[in-house]
Amino acid sequence: MRVAVVGGGIGGLAAALRLVQAGHDVAVLDGGARPGGVIGTSTAEGFRREHAANGFLTGADDGAAALCDELGVGVVEAAPAARARWIYLRGRLHRLPAGPGSFARSGLLSWRGKLALLGEPLRPARDVAAAGDESLWDFAVRRLGTEAAHALVAPMVTGVFAADARRVSLAAGFPRLAALDARGGLVRGMIAEARGRRRGGGARRRGKTTLAAPAGGMAVLVDALAARLGDRVRRGVTVRAVEPEPGGVVVVGDDPARRERFDAGVLAVPGPAAAALVRGALPALARGLTEVEYAPVALAFLGFRARDVRADVDGFGFLVAQGEAPRVLGCVIESTVWPERAPADHVLFRMIYGGARDPGAAELDDDALFAQAGADLAQILGVRARPVHATAVRWPHGIAQYPVGHADRVAAWERDAHAARLVLAGSSYHGVAVNDCIADARRVVRQVEAWR
Ligand SMILES: Cc1cc2nc3c(=O)[nH]c(=O)nc-3n(C[C@H](O)[C@H](O)[C@H](O)COP(=O)(O)OP(=O)(O)OC[C@H]3O[C@@H](n4cnc5c(N)ncnc54)[C@H](O)[C@@H]3O)c2cc1C
Repeated sequence: MRVAVVGGGIGGLAAALRLVQAGHDVAVLDGGARPGGVIGTSTAEGFRREHAANGFLTGADDGAAALCDELGVGVVEAAPAARARWIYLRGRLHRLPAGPGSFARSGLLSWRGKLALLGEPLRPARDVAAAGDESLWDFAVRRLGTEAAHALVAPMVTGVFAADARRVSLAAGFPRLAALDARGGLVRGMIAEARGRRRGGGARRRGKTTLAAPAGGMAVLVDALAARLGDRVRRGVTVRAVEPEPGGVVVVGDDPARRERFDAGVLAVPGPAAAALVRGALPALARGLTEVEYAPVALAFLGFRARDVRADVDGFGFLVAQGEAPRVLGCVIESTVWPERAPADHVLFRMIYGGARDPGAAELDDDALFAQAGADLAQILGVRARPVHATAVRWPHGIAQYPVGHADRVAAWERDAHAARLVLAGSSYHGVAVNDCIADARRVVRQVEAWR
């Protein structure tokens, strides 16, 4: 089949690769000058900046690590020093406990909070499929207690996905947690999973899970994907409309007279951009896709001489609980996790602002953003020196948000799209992480092949 993939972010590129491997004739049409969408890597004053995803977890069956392997892209694992992770709560940093001893000693939760957390296996299970979706916050309160929801779960969701735990869907955003809950709860579910695996009936055993990134940065992965696709990727091509017609779709570019017919179309652009493409031909679908929300994000990259940063500032980085004075949602100490991302004897912080919790922070101009970042680092880590490097990367429509009920809405949109020989792909629908976008490419192939 001749398939048009509109959008050359990681979702579109991965879908195109799997379609080509399944024997289809594919054209990727992307408006950008370079492949990868939000994913990009640049170096400024010797500091390497990841513009969006800065790594991925290995161990997924069909994720980024497997794709790197397939494309011959070498990966580096996060340095062992990155194991320590911190939460800023009640005005100070707390190290995330790594085992029962450190959990008992940790000041992150009160004794009451710790007992509530330990009671998790005793709480009744809830099956999302039967009982309906809920927010990650409600799930965390129900299973782990309010303290753990506030101190552990909500900062993680905000710091990583820039989402508000009170709005984000358990079923769509954290399907694994929902699945464990349905099997008896987090602890009981994991035990049941392990038993299933031992009997050979369960899911395939996952490999060791570590944080990794392509050597040279995330851009290396999207460049390798684009190179593998060769001249199937057409850059600088903005699609204006996609119109279904019997047995296919017509793609309309900047020049309305240039209309190209395909047997099927994959819309791998953000939901609102997909809505604009089908507004004329499929207005009901367009109305739905317009609803897909994106949280705005500003990344502040601050570099310092190592001697200006206290020696005990280490680990992966920290997340900030809601209600604390600093506005930063989370910070990765890039130079600890990936030493090659900063010049020798320098430290690079990547600080994330905005998100669903504080969208106004993503709109601060550079001076205000760097002043806020400096003040936050001073308050949280005691870093008071002037940075030797300060740059920002901004995404007014940064990370897709999945509110409660998202999965049901997506299923309805997909039915409408399918009837018009269109597949929806990319981070608006089945997971925002790079691993999710890559794994989702197999679903895209199955959907396209349903028309054969
Ligand atoms: C700041 C930030 C940090 C992140 N951190 C992580 C992380 O650490 N780990 C992780 O796994 N994920 C992370 N993510 C999420 C992940 O990077 C994204 O979800 C994913 O890269 C999005 O890919 P996509 O293909 O869905 O969309 P995009 O990357 O948005 O690609 C869409 C493409 O469509 C093109 N396009 C749009 N409209 C048209 C049109 N009309 N015609 C032609 N082309 C069009 C655009 O040019 C673009 O190339 C992060 C994201 C951000 C923003």
